[in-house]
Amino acid sequence: MKSKKQVLVLGGGYGGIKALETFAHNDFLDVTLIDKNRYHYLQTESYNLVALQLSLEDIIIPLDRLVQGIDKRFQFIQDEIINIQETKVICRGGEYCFDYLLVAVGVQTFLPSLLKHEKLYEVKNLSNALYLKQHFENTIVKHFQKEQQLSNIIVIGGGSSGVEIAAEMQNYINESNLKEEVKISLIADLFLTELDETSREKALDTLQDMGIHIIKKMVTKVQNNKVYFENETIAFDFGVVAVGLSAHDFIEKLYFPKEKNLLKVDAYLRLYKNIFAAGDCALLEDRDGKSLPQTAQTAEQSGVVAAENIMRCINNKPLIKADIKIYGLAIALGGKFAIATASFIKVDGLLGYLGKKAIEQYYKISLKLKI
Ligand SMILES: Cc1cc2nc3c(=O)[nH]c(=O)nc-3n(C[C@H](O)[C@H](O)[C@H](O)COP(=O)(O)OP(=O)(O)OC[C@H]3O[C@@H](n4cnc5c(N)ncnc54)[C@H](O)[C@@H]3O)c2cc1C
Repeated sequence: MKSKKQVLVLGGGYGGIKALETFAHNDFLDVTLIDKNRYHYLQTESYNLVALQLSLEDIIIPLDRLVQGIDKRFQFIQDEIINIQETKVICRGGEYCFDYLLVAVGVQTFLPSLLKHEKLYEVKNLSNALYLKQHFENTIVKHFQKEQQLSNIIVIGGGSSGVEIAAEMQNYINESNLKEEVKISLIADLFLTELDETSREKALDTLQDMGIHIIKKMVTKVQNNKVYFENETIAFDFGVVAVGLSAHDFIEKLYFPKEKNLLKVDAYLRLYKNIFAAGDCALLEDRDGKSLPQTAQTAEQSGVVAAENIMRCINNKPLIKADIKIYGLAIALGGKFAIATASFIKVDGLLGYLGKKAIEQYYKISLKLKI
């Protein structure tokens, strides 16, 4: 009888969870997930958490229950990974041996020293997103109680994360009739570069019409609750930073091949003999060798391919090449408005919003049904 292979999955995010689903109900595998947190964080909906539309239980799924729900023989270990070696993973709480390993630990928010400030938060980390939500909630309450006359919130970063958070907060402010008292400034040198020019202009017009102050400049300094640009300064109460992503510190130190600080996998998503990588922590490319953006959809597809290839290795079958695609893009622009693009189809407004909600809800409900 074939002995069971020990498979470790590192990271219970979008890539890791899809990998677990792919491994499910295979009698020849002993699968264990390791994550430092005991929850799967629905990062793609974090803009709704910050803007008081969702609560904690809407945005996390308990990993211990989810892992058991996917396959009751799977195990979950809560521990922080600090190093990966050829046959074992070193964590704060112990060492774990493997026959096959899948690394899907995601990335962290890139926070340049220029933007390190006690009142500036990022949302990739759940605790930070909750602090941000608290500040926003307190601001709203202070204005409802007439304890404050004017509040300034800044959002630094013109990518989809920054735009979605700014738009959803502005929508809440507008619906609360606080438009004259609570101001949002969205600051970046470039905006929504993932959209074509017409859609980008449309998105920026929508944001401005809502009341968001768009500043197309680079920040040069943040000091004493003031943000500085060329010839301009704005005072702020608190803010959001969403200017980019960077690899986790322990990934940067690994001796495995890397490019742009991400794990350099081959066409089969293999990093090293028995080690595969998926999701944001891996440098994923399309069939033409073009780098793919770090998104949940690329993380999910790569998680499936990497898991499939681990099973193929075990069964001595030829590996399959990853053919990861971006099927579309949907950016929430506050309330029931979003811009969605898929191949040659572009929709905006309510239809775009319904498309985005359908994707988010399908993903969330399919996992919630397992716990
Ligand atoms: C505000 C925002 C909005 C977004 N909107 C969209 C969107 O609309 N559509 C879209 O496709 N994508 C979106 N994304 C991007 C998407 O969330 C990421 O691409 C996706 O989460 C990547 O999945 P992953 O599995 O690679 O990593 P993650 O989902 O980040 O999961 C990584 C896991 O690894 C764990 N981990 C990390 N380090 C360690 C360690 N040292 N030890 C143990 N465990 C560790 C973490 O706890 C986490 O559970 C958005 C992101 C943000 C921040």
